[in-house]
Amino acid sequence: MVNLKVWEKLRNQFTAKKVTLIAVSKTKPASDIQELYNAGQRDFGENYVQELTEKYAALPKDINWHFIGHLQSNKVKYIAPFVHLIHGIDNARLLQEIDKQAAKNNRVIDVLLQYYIAREETKYGMSMAEITEVVKHKADLPNIRICGLMGMASNTDDMAQVRGEFRALDSFFVLLKMEYFVDNPEFSKCSMGMSGDYEIAIEQGSNMVRIGSLLFGGRTYTQ
Ligand SMILES: *Cc1c(COP(=O)(O)O)cnc(C)c1O
Repeated sequence: MVNLKVWEKLRNQFTAKKVTLIAVSKTKPASDIQELYNAGQRDFGENYVQELTEKYAALPKDINWHFIGHLQSNKVKYIAPFVHLIHGIDNARLLQEIDKQAAKNNRVIDVLLQYYIAREETKYGMSMAEITEVVKHKADLPNIRICGLMGMASNTDDMAQVRGEFRALDSFFVLLKMEYFVDNPEFSKCSMGMSGDYEIAIEQGSNMVRIGSLLFGGRTYTQ
């Protein structure tokens, strides 16, 4: 069930701060997405390729679809024609495949590099060194635009730790921007924060927040 009151509150709060609200609709039915769409929401996030392609086919074409999960190279081709922004780039090889599929579709695909900030083995992402390496060679990928960084904090009640992790991501974002993207205004997105930690994320410089359960209620299955 969609919580329109919460959506309205978040939207107003985020608009004032120039933060993009991405409604994370994974595992939720297309009817829930349509309901938020009717209220005015256009940015939606999904984690699974098959689920995303089915929803893309069924829903209005002016939705901005964000792929926020772990993306396998062999599945890039299914979302390359329409995806708005791919958040979770966690290895350099994946970028080569996205570049190739973007070229096939005559388009440039926007991506965010996932920076590993959490103290958890379960999360994906690249180190500072790996991201720097990718960024140095960005000219080799003409059909990709690197638009910023994405990260997930540790799943912990220790908010000081979460704050520190978000701060690390924002600092790295600012540093990369100064070093490698002075002439690339599109390098402007810092995607961090979810239902449980978005306030801290925004306080630490996030301008793109991915909210699922606060808007759609809890999820009953995970993949
Ligand atoms: C599921 C998911 C979210 C949303 O999580 P909530 O806690 O439900 O807000 C955000 N980001 C990523 C990468 C996710 O997989």
